Amino acid sequence: MGFWPDGYRCAVFLSFDYDASSAVMWRLPLDVVAQSRGRFAPKVAIPRILDMLDRQGVRATFFTPGWTVDNYPESVEEIISRGHEVAGHGYQHERMTEISAEAEESVFDRMMAALERVGVKPEGYRAPYWLVSDRTIRHLRRLGFRYSSNFMDDDMPYMLRYRGEETGLVELPVEWMLDDWPQFETNRRAPDDAYRLWKPEFEGIYELGRYFCLTCHPQAIGRISRLRMLERLIEEMKAKGDVWFATGREIADWTRKKLS
Ligand SMILES: [Zn+2]
Repeated sequence: MGFWPDGYRCAVFLSFDYDASSAVMWRLPLDVVAQSRGRFAPKVAIPRILDMLDRQGVRATFFTPGWTVDNYPESVEEIISRGHEVAGHGYQHERMTEISAEAEESVFDRMMAALERVGVKPEGYRAPYWLVSDRTIRHLRRLGFRYSSNFMDDDMPYMLRYRGEETGLVELPVEWMLDDWPQFETNRRAPDDAYRLWKPEFEGIYELGRYFCLTCHPQAIGRISRLRMLERLIEEMKAKGDVWFATGREIADWTRKKLS
């Protein structure tokens, strides 16, 4: 063990990508039913998720596109007022590797401006679709970000070197198997199927004293059967007594302190 704050054997990072309809508005501007799926997040899922997190007494990080902030500012303010972290996730969930350098720069600036309107100077960034390029890293440094949550090469956080250079960013790695989207949206698996994937991974991470990052999308995980599954998983993690539930900012700050 040894890595985590005193009394904790492993870390759990609960993260929610609050896309709402941002991506669909961009990709399918005429499909209003597809767009309505994203509205399930602000209307139903976010209040339900916030109540569940309160009930369990754990805090999370919401990677939120600027578009979501501009369209649902009260919802994002509620997330902040309930003690959670809001971090960057593009403006309209753009596929950054498919737009020009100029367009990407403007996306980053619009994202920052939207977050600033709700009083957030984001410390963390998760790329829409986890599409990261050399340009992304330059923007993160230019805008004073402190951590990235994009790479898939570890199950511990680490100081991010990129093309052989220190970036000064902490990386909080992710993994597709710990993402609800392929489980519930790409496929329509049962809550128990996701549980059977996630639970043994958590048990192994716990045993080894490492880091478990779950990526959820409010519009997917907020359906009641799925949220009940997530709450059961959180209850079982809490029952261990020495699991550190922390926001991205907290894990990044801790990692920086330990490793630099
Ligand atoms: Zn997203």
